[in-house]
Amino acid sequence: MDSKILQDLKEQLEKTAGELEVEIKDAKKSPDFGSDTEGGVFEEEADEAEEEGLQLGVQQALKERLGDVENAIEKIVRGNYGKCEKCSMEISMEVLRVNPESRFCKDCKNK
Ligand SMILES: [Zn+2]
Repeated sequence: MDSKILQDLKEQLEKTAGELEVEIKDAKKSPDFGSDTEGGVFEEEADEAEEEGLQLGVQQALKERLGDVENAIEKIVRGNYGKCEKCSMEISMEVLRVNPESRFCKDCKNK
């Protein structure tokens, strides 16, 4: 693969990793429970619990994506970037441009 393109993708991935780290940090912040002291409205509490669960799900998804991004950066450094982790075929540029952290080729991804 063209080293210039590879360098571009690496920069893009590093930027994405930085953004994801910030987002994960933000997602960790505990929601505002200030309204709790104003009296026990059970409905509200249920809503907050639901919200918290949602937040954990978001955080989990962000962490997984960050894992993929870091994995891709490592592969660029090691020089084996751009190969499908399942079938070892080269992942097309078309896929990498849209999704540089992609671990699989189009075919394997669609299976
Ligand atoms: Zn594949």
